[in-house]
Amino acid sequence: MKQSVLVGPRTSKIMDVPIPEVGPNDVLSRVRTCGVCASELAVWQGSGNYPSKIGHEIAGDVVEVGEMVKGLKPGMRVTGLIYHAFAEYAIAPSNQVIPIPEGISYEHALGEPISCIISGARRTEIELGDTVAIVGLGFMGMLMLQCIRLRAVLN
Ligand SMILES: [Zn+2]
Repeated sequence: MKQSVLVGPRTSKIMDVPIPEVGPNDVLSRVRTCGVCASELAVWQGSGNYPSKIGHEIAGDVVEVGEMVKGLKPGMRVTGLIYHAFAEYAIAPSNQVIPIPEGISYEHALGEPISCIISGARRTEIELGDTVAIVGLGFMGMLMLQCIRLRAVLN
């Protein structure tokens, strides 16, 4: 399969690598889209070990599951935390993969950033009536705004 591999600071190359082998609890997915995460900026800029494989915010289609995997099967659309995903295929333990509901595109189903926001919102001690500042209102900031609003209302 083809995979983008960082070979040095700000330099990636498309390489031919083997398709990952599926273990008993693994899900192998064909990558349809993969987000670019700020957590990978440092390695892109030069603070990593090379070669390095990045990309972990994917949505794709299941192509194979291990014999212990329940609830996921080939053909299902999925998202999750799946590393080394700037590639044709990526593999992850099944507990890091969830189905994409009907009617949601691959591009709108990137589950990993949403899980980061929900985890962050759960760690706050915000109550209804508190004043909150969110620095940066891009994709992640807008998600955090919605989660904090819901969290305060649902307490
Ligand atoms: Zn991320």
